[in-house]
Amino acid sequence: MIVSLLLGWLGGWLVNYLADVLPITRSFSRPVCPRCQAVRKPLDYLFFRKCGQCGAPRTLRSWLTQILLTVISLLLWLFSPSYLPYPLALTLVLYFSVIAVIDLEYRAILHPVSLFGALLGLGTGIYLRSGESLLEGVTTTLIGGAVGFAIMLVFYLLGEAYVRRMAKKKGLPADEVALGFGDVNLAGIVGLILGWPAVLTGLFFAILAGGLTSLVIIIVMVLAKRYQAFTAIPYAPFLILGALYLLLTA
Ligand SMILES: [Zn+2]
Repeated sequence: MIVSLLLGWLGGWLVNYLADVLPITRSFSRPVCPRCQAVRKPLDYLFFRKCGQCGAPRTLRSWLTQILLTVISLLLWLFSPSYLPYPLALTLVLYFSVIAVIDLEYRAILHPVSLFGALLGLGTGIYLRSGESLLEGVTTTLIGGAVGFAIMLVFYLLGEAYVRRMAKKKGLPADEVALGFGDVNLAGIVGLILGWPAVLTGLFFAILAGGLTSLVIIIVMVLAKRYQAFTAIPYAPFLILGALYLLLTA
């Protein structure tokens, strides 16, 4: 149990680090202070000290990520189902955490992160379905990925066409997209992990949850008279929750 708490804490470090550096430098560089851009000393950074240059404290997100992942790691250790061993479950949660944090903060899913996810998803999918014949496992995994990618691609193209039409009508520039292409990639990764036909349930859950949340946000904004058309909703957290829910309860 202590091992799982320790691994969760280490995982929190890793997720915070990746979410701090990848969107800015796209490489495994040294983290910088978000306020003054000073390079952080490794020990100050690891022990959540204030920035030595400007005194900015670490973000609330750093703390939340750290604590949540430590708790989740313990829960996975105790309750992860037999077909999904703890190391794999933790790896998937850490990977999805990097995507969710960056998506919430930057509304973007980075291509290198997606590429890594495709490999992770392929490996996970084949491992989870290794009970069937290898060919069957590989096939259901690949079909799941292709279907997830294709369904989200249709939504992406529809959203893009809609935004372009509305922008033309109102004479606005069509620079906002309803759904990012990163969401399409992520749906492909989720499809690889869940396989065919579970990918359909996962996407259905994500689209429903995302749609309902969008609706609530729009109603609240309209009531507060702050509604703007094309408010982008990050879809990644819903795709991730759908996938994890199915993985842990199937
Ligand atoms: Zn600073």
